[in-house]
Amino acid sequence: MTEQVDEQRWQLETLAIHAGQAPDPATGAIMTPVYQTSTYVQAAPGDHKGYEYSRTDNPTRQALEDCLAALEGAPYGLAFSSGMAATDMVFKLLQAGDHVIAGNDVYGGTFRLADKVWRRFGLEFSWVDTANPDAVRAAITPATRLIWLETPTNPGLMLADIAAIANIAQARGLILAVDNTFASPALQQPLKLGATLSLHSTTKYLGGHSDVVGGAILTRDDDLYRQLKFLQNAAGAVPGPWDCFLVLRGVKTLPLRMERHSANALRVARFLEDHPAVERVMYPGLESHPQHDLARRQMRNFGGMISLILRGGADAGQQFVTRTRLFALAESLGGVESLIEHPYSMTHASTTASDIAVNPGLIRLSVGVEHVDDLIDDLRAALTGL
Ligand SMILES: *Cc1c(COP(=O)(O)O)cnc(C)c1O
Repeated sequence: MTEQVDEQRWQLETLAIHAGQAPDPATGAIMTPVYQTSTYVQAAPGDHKGYEYSRTDNPTRQALEDCLAALEGAPYGLAFSSGMAATDMVFKLLQAGDHVIAGNDVYGGTFRLADKVWRRFGLEFSWVDTANPDAVRAAITPATRLIWLETPTNPGLMLADIAAIANIAQARGLILAVDNTFASPALQQPLKLGATLSLHSTTKYLGGHSDVVGGAILTRDDDLYRQLKFLQNAAGAVPGPWDCFLVLRGVKTLPLRMERHSANALRVARFLEDHPAVERVMYPGLESHPQHDLARRQMRNFGGMISLILRGGADAGQQFVTRTRLFALAESLGGVESLIEHPYSMTHASTTASDIAVNPGLIRLSVGVEHVDDLIDDLRAALTGL
């Protein structure tokens, strides 16, 4: 594509709006058209314009894949119908008997897919504390093929040192996959730190408006890209063009939104840290976070996710999440609107049961981009008397 010359120089804010999205050559439409078509007319058998069938390739999906790849400084992007479909494709790179090292605090759905599905097909998993690179190194066996990181983690908001673990992976020829959903490419670029694959649930910050479910994998590795492109077409878990359009539109404001999510979350985290009903606040942007220095090195800013532990345990947790008015009680994260969750009674039925995930007083906040004073007033009112 001609604009690729420019793309090499563009900064994130510009890439988010323009990468992969040249004006439509047929009409000049500035927005990427939604190519709502399953097939493409051929002039003669095999004589086509690069598109044959929309499971294999679709121009709207192509624009999204090119844009997301550019945001992570990668030549290759692949879009999927959900974050879990993208995760599933990474496991499909492996063979029965292969061993995977993964964080013990990963997204519940990732643990469920590994433990309930892929173990049946002969993959083996070790769940380790990826905040400690030595624990990752110690878990390597001759059968290990893949290291799976999430950073920051969910809901513990602990970090993994991507560069340190990339060194370990590279020395042994292992694939290092990083689920970059919580940080988004605006705050963290795992491929630039040595990871082989960066994965997203585009449902979250990339889409950003709680109106679409999707996933993506970005890579610089020619061979893995070819394998994943084959799997994308072979397995067929592709997003429709309308969903691709929604993610593309969301991504245009990603850098702006992440700035505000991060600024709001830092203010909210500081407010919570000083509140007597709160025992502990986990947020990488707080000086009290045990990996704050790593967060400053590895991330551009600290994101919109906060976990906290209420002194009052499960009862206080259940009351708190039903008393907020702006923070909506809902699963998911990463949209413009603020959400609140009580994992003990909600999502984390399928986790590896890390200590933090099963704490009855744990609350998770996805801090949105509303005015921060309104958010703090909402939390203060809901905490009163707990
Ligand atoms: C939501 C999420 C997923 C799964 O993505 P879906 O789009 O819901 O399938 C994977 N990893 C993380 C960190 C998530 O937050």
